Amino acid sequence: MPKLKPGDRVECRLKDGAIVSPYREYDEIRTFEIVAIEGSGYWLYIPPYVLIKGGKKADQYRSKSLGIDKRFLDVDIYYIQENLISKVVSEMDGTTCAKCGEFYHLAEPNQEDGTLICWSCRFNPYR
Ligand SMILES: [Zn+2]
Repeated sequence: MPKLKPGDRVECRLKDGAIVSPYREYDEIRTFEIVAIEGSGYWLYIPPYVLIKGGKKADQYRSKSLGIDKRFLDVDIYYIQENLISKVVSEMDGTTCAKCGEFYHLAEPNQEDGTLICWSCRFNPYR
């Protein structure tokens, strides 16, 4: 597996609110963005609509010590080892909405500054 970096996206399998090994049974597959690297594992951004037990808050202290981008301040993050990644999703496979942080497969930037604002966020700016 290539060495991943913050901003890369990975697919993980979820079962009962936990990220499980790619070889185990699972309920759903989710794409997560890597926000930091520590030791041999990765910190993933956990969007508010994904329920995972054992996450941590990317508070000021933790964000600073891990070098997490400030747009992730106070979000939930979760630490995994590389063996829990079921697939690496290329940056070319989609775009994350700059507003709500949701990842859209095969979506392309649609704003002048090169970011994507998803349909839901454009439709409802107060989302
Ligand atoms: Zn959005």
